[in-house]
Amino acid sequence: MGRMSLAQSHNPAENTGAALELLDVLCTLLLGAEDELNGLDRAIGDGDHGGNLARASRSLSELRPELAELSMGEAVTRAGRAVVMSVGGASGPLYGTLLMEMGKALPDEPGPGDWAAAFAAGVDGVARRGRSAEGDKTMLDVLAPASRALSEEASADLHEALAAMRAAAEDGFETSRGLRAKRGRAAYVGERSVGHDDPGARSALLCVGAVADFLGENKG
Ligand SMILES: [Mg+2]
Repeated sequence: MGRMSLAQSHNPAENTGAALELLDVLCTLLLGAEDELNGLDRAIGDGDHGGNLARASRSLSELRPELAELSMGEAVTRAGRAVVMSVGGASGPLYGTLLMEMGKALPDEPGPGDWAAAFAAGVDGVARRGRSAEGDKTMLDVLAPASRALSEEASADLHEALAAMRAAAEDGFETSRGLRAKRGRAAYVGERSVGHDDPGARSALLCVGAVADFLGENKG
């Protein structure tokens, strides 16, 4: 079984094991991006976004043995709860909500269409929790178009779907740079946020890109 099968086995815990390899990739990525994300946040916020996601990554790594015993949906939900509990700022509750809502939507043996639907449910959860929408210059400017692209292409070729998801995320990120922040601390700097990369949009782009790489390389 290749890793993108991310769930074609009939053993729920085995499916989760494959997904945990992706979790490892994301945690390593976010630990490595700590300084970059802190720097982006320092420019228009309080400089803690990288540190917050590094803390989330460490807590998820500690949780790994527990997650390995759970079904896919349970593991993603549990990971989301851990992120909410371990991370302060806005990013912990928002990324945690993304995962919790995804986990609730996932069946035990999710296929690409199930992952696309779960991602959409997670993005809706982020919008509700943050009382924000696309165009507010947040992580949603990356996550929402990425999710739409994945949903639109989920029944087509997997590589095309992943490429469309990544391209939509990159476009969303580039567009958000020119926006004025309307949420979070960045909203207080107003016009000064225009032209700056939003740290949440940046971390979302990093994660979407890593997911696309992982699933694309490990298909079948
Ligand atoms: Mg911050």
